Amino acid sequence: MPHYDLVIVGTGSGNSILDPRFADWKTAIVEKGVFGGTCLNVGCIPTKMFVYTADVAATPSASSRLGVDEELLDVRWRDIRDRIFGRIDPIAAGGREYRQNHADNANVTVYAGEGRFTGHKELTVQLGDRTETVTADRFVLAAGGRPVVPDIEGLDEVGYHTSDTVMRLDKLPSRLVIVGSGFIAAEFAHVFASFGVEVTVIARSGALLRNEDEDISARFTELAGNRFDVRLNRKTRRVRRTESGIELELDGGETVEADELLIATGRRPNSDLLDVAATGVTTVDGGRVVVDDYQQTSVDGVYALGDLSSPYELKHVANHEARVVQHNLLHPDERIKADHRFVPHAVFSSPQIASVGLTEAQARERGVKYVTSKQDYAGIAYGWAMEDTTGFAKLLADPETGQLLGAHIIGAQASTVIQPIIQAMSFGLDAHTMARGQYWIHPAMPELIENALLGLKIG
Ligand SMILES: Cc1cc2nc3c(=O)[nH]c(=O)nc-3n(C[C@H](O)[C@H](O)[C@H](O)COP(=O)(O)OP(=O)(O)OC[C@H]3O[C@@H](n4cnc5c(N)ncnc54)[C@H](O)[C@@H]3O)c2cc1C
Repeated sequence: MPHYDLVIVGTGSGNSILDPRFADWKTAIVEKGVFGGTCLNVGCIPTKMFVYTADVAATPSASSRLGVDEELLDVRWRDIRDRIFGRIDPIAAGGREYRQNHADNANVTVYAGEGRFTGHKELTVQLGDRTETVTADRFVLAAGGRPVVPDIEGLDEVGYHTSDTVMRLDKLPSRLVIVGSGFIAAEFAHVFASFGVEVTVIARSGALLRNEDEDISARFTELAGNRFDVRLNRKTRRVRRTESGIELELDGGETVEADELLIATGRRPNSDLLDVAATGVTTVDGGRVVVDDYQQTSVDGVYALGDLSSPYELKHVANHEARVVQHNLLHPDERIKADHRFVPHAVFSSPQIASVGLTEAQARERGVKYVTSKQDYAGIAYGWAMEDTTGFAKLLADPETGQLLGAHIIGAQASTVIQPIIQAMSFGLDAHTMARGQYWIHPAMPELIENALLGLKIG
């Protein structure tokens, strides 16, 4: 039975750990799918390449209000798809090739199969019709998560897509129904609607993106209702194939028909398939691996990172945690802690949303003292240029110290506009110093933040 100094399961952020500093370690990487993980192959990167393309396709529908009449002539779905995966697939293949065959990785063995713990620090990998069992002093569990598919009668018979498959469709459907109301649903609704697809979104709750700040979620839900057929507070009872497509029966007998069905109802960690319990690793909340501040699991020498163990399920978090794990493996006597104080995220729909820190509801629940300030895009010069009438930034700050507690933006380029706030929160810059201690380029989009900061009633 081969024994290693280190075995890494999963080649998303897990693949970034091994570098020349591990050259004299005997290591192995176990990967059951393509190299590069969710973000590269079926997550952040292809979705944002689709979103950018969708933004371009959507310009004619927004240009008339500026006095420019444009027309969308065609959407060449296969060309769009093939541009995106023509870029991504070779990167995934190159990643595998590098680990398997490059001289830099002479100390790395790649196991192309699904790993499952079968004992304490003992992993059995399914390699085609044979298995191989390996042991190691240290493990890094970076096995990510997968889409959750709800138990709806008829689903398996009709066939459905998840985010893993919908981007590889052979042909653009005329009608798409999306079950789900989170960021994946919001992003794909924008992509497909921009390409001319009739999109229906079915949400179990009364709002879309309900984990966002309540004002953001309310505004997004209102705007989504203008673009998509949004059905709120509906449960899907059963699904069946009809002559003309797929029919969903909702609560109360209401029906929706479409050509394709996308299930976007959340994700779960892969800890069950990896059977982490067999090595003594504990989990919580539907399978999330428990880690301490150093990203170590309940078993000495077994680290975990990313979607397998993180409630955030974000690539920048997985990458940060991979750097922490890498350091702690190399320097066991000077370990560092992961920093999860100010984790931002964005939703790349239309409009974009970006957020960091506390929502107003969280501040209320925690009894934190706060003041808020809201600045509309319509109130800054760049917003006039764009004729933006719906976007805004909302800030929360400590009324005494001016320290920023949270920021929530809905509108053009929100994911970029928010970055100075993330920086201010991370480095402890108070609102007044941030607003007045630097120039803000006029008349640029970040004036949204400058004005929102100046609107906070501090001190
Ligand atoms: C549609 C979509 C859009 C997203 N957009 C964004 C975004 O815009 N920004 C953002 O920050 N995040 C986004 N995310 C989330 C982001 O992709 C994940 O947070 C990130 O990829 C997690 O990385 P990871 O290394 O933890 O896991 P993964 O990248 O999922 O890697 C896990 C790897 O482990 C392998 N594996 C699993 N189990 C086993 C096993 N038992 N044996 C062997 N191999 C195994 C898998 O095949 C996979 O390659 C998106 C996700 C999705 C689904």
